[in-house]
Amino acid sequence: MNTADPTLICSAKGCRTPAVWVLAWNNPKLHTPERRKTWLACEEHREYLSRFLGVRDFLKEVVTLADWQEAQKSAEKDAEGESGPDPARG
Ligand SMILES: [Zn+2]
Repeated sequence: MNTADPTLICSAKGCRTPAVWVLAWNNPKLHTPERRKTWLACEEHREYLSRFLGVRDFLKEVVTLADWQEAQKSAEKDAEGESGPDPARG
């Protein structure tokens, strides 16, 4: 399967709502400290999933999907040396 524009869906079981949050987590028993697993969450399930990870002490950060994708994009851009927004503007 090669979907050009996949809709990212909430990771909660049975939920088909498009995700708006990214929960970055790490299980120290399975993962190296810098490794990040991610779960996607809709508004409704953000708290539920955060708590699930939080009580296990796995949760590292919660960011909006837009911010997460922006961070991934700029990480890719870095490699290509593209210029970002002009800091001197204004
Ligand atoms: Zn959900």
